Amino acid sequence: MLTMKFGGTSVGDAPRLREVVDIVRSHSGRRPVVVASAMSGVTDLLLGVAHAAVRKEAGKVKEAVESLRRRHQGVADEMVTQAGRRQELVAGHALLLDELENICMGIGYLEELSPRSLDAVASFGERFSCMQIAAILEDAGIPARYIDARGLVRTDARFGEAQVDFAATDGNILRTLPPLVEQGVVPVVTGFIGSTGDGVTTTLGRSGSDYTGAIVGAALHSEEIWIWTDVDGVMTADPRYVEGARPLPEISYREAAEMSYFGAKVIHPKTMLPAITGRIPIRIKNTFNPSHPGTLISERTATVAGVVKNVTSIDGLGLVSIEGHGMLGVPGVSARIFTALGRAGVNVMMISQASSEHNVCLVVPQKDCPRAVGELDKEFASDIAHKLIDDVRLMDGVAIIAVVGEGMRGVPGIAAKVFSAVAREQVNVIAVAQGSSELNISLVVAEGDVRRAVAAIHGQTVADVPRTGA
Ligand code: ASP
Ligand code: MG
Repeated sequence: MLTMKFGGTSVGDAPRLREVVDIVRSHSGRRPVVVASAMSGVTDLLLGVAHAAVRKEAGKVKEAVESLRRRHQGVADEMVTQAGRRQELVAGHALLLDELENICMGIGYLEELSPRSLDAVASFGERFSCMQIAAILEDAGIPARYIDARGLVRTDARFGEAQVDFAATDGNILRTLPPLVEQGVVPVVTGFIGSTGDGVTTTLGRSGSDYTGAIVGAALHSEEIWIWTDVDGVMTADPRYVEGARPLPEISYREAAEMSYFGAKVIHPKTMLPAITGRIPIRIKNTFNPSHPGTLISERTATVAGVVKNVTSIDGLGLVSIEGHGMLGVPGVSARIFTALGRAGVNVMMISQASSEHNVCLVVPQKDCPRAVGELDKEFASDIAHKLIDDVRLMDGVAIIAVVGEGMRGVPGIAAKVFSAVAREQVNVIAVAQGSSELNISLVVAEGDVRRAVAAIHGQTVADVPRTGA
């Protein structure tokens, strides 16, 4: 079996949906299972509807519901040629729209919009979309069945980001989907949504359809999980900033996780977990360019020694440093720093300590800086008073550049290449960290320098990545 997940843009209008039909048809020999998102923009629209409902803006609710009706009706008219089938789809959508309006009315009467209600409202996008995709496939002569994942994906009641009960979910999937596939039917499963043991609707968090794709693909032991999106795969750098950025033929799960942490447009690490556990390769493919092989993410990749795969950056950060002779060799300082930041709920993105131990720097999101500094000032007030610590200092407006690739492990000279590239651009490196996995080198630079530095590092190091198809 081959699990294919289509994102919102890939199912967002009639031309895209035509492409979906062609893709499913051309892989029918591999027994595809489809998981799909809501049409692009629909989830946001639904959340807006819920907020309008609680504010008792009945006119806005009506208008939005009408726009959903029109958008889906337009697709039905254009894509479902057989009259009986089209009427059935339109009737199915009408029932969902009624249910949505009723829920909104309830929200308005109660003047209460709980996370539970938000999930109930958000669930409609995937239900509209997958009902429609199944009808379109059928109309094109491909036997298909709409599957509401609330009957498969069992979760806890953490609305908005529910946790999956894998034992129950895998059992449900294995009972439901393989018998259909055996009969030559393509199941079309709603991404993003699930339900609690009591049957209450939940969602897996924004962009959760990828996660559903991985859950379904892993439960079925699919040969691969294909994530259809609108780019040719995972890129070596952000193509908006770096000329010559290009798609990577393959990366490891760990590289993907590392890149995504540093802001590359890859799938979310949590999404990959079921695939990693089941050792199922994930392939990122482009619906706008389906013959392109995309990027394969798997346990093992042909790591080419010395090869850097990706240069990414995140900006909008601040650098907090704690300095002082009193820190020298004193155990517990780091523990106090992290405990204080934990208390303040600050997300620490990077840490670096000079081996002289006079200085510890932490990179944190700009919005967390005041809290971080405030809490550290409090924690070290008496140390500062006794001059054991000089100060807690903040430098605003920095960025982290991350250079990622398993092939850097044990290969001398990569760091030198990175730093000489940066030096040639006359960019000042404020701090450096390398994880002991040697998967990643991170540099902190001023925000204003970040694009130049990324382009220079990319030019110096990523040049050796084998080209797709090579
Ligand atoms: N439709 C949901 C969202 O927009 C889930 C997804 O697209 O993956 O977040
Ligand atoms: Mg999406």
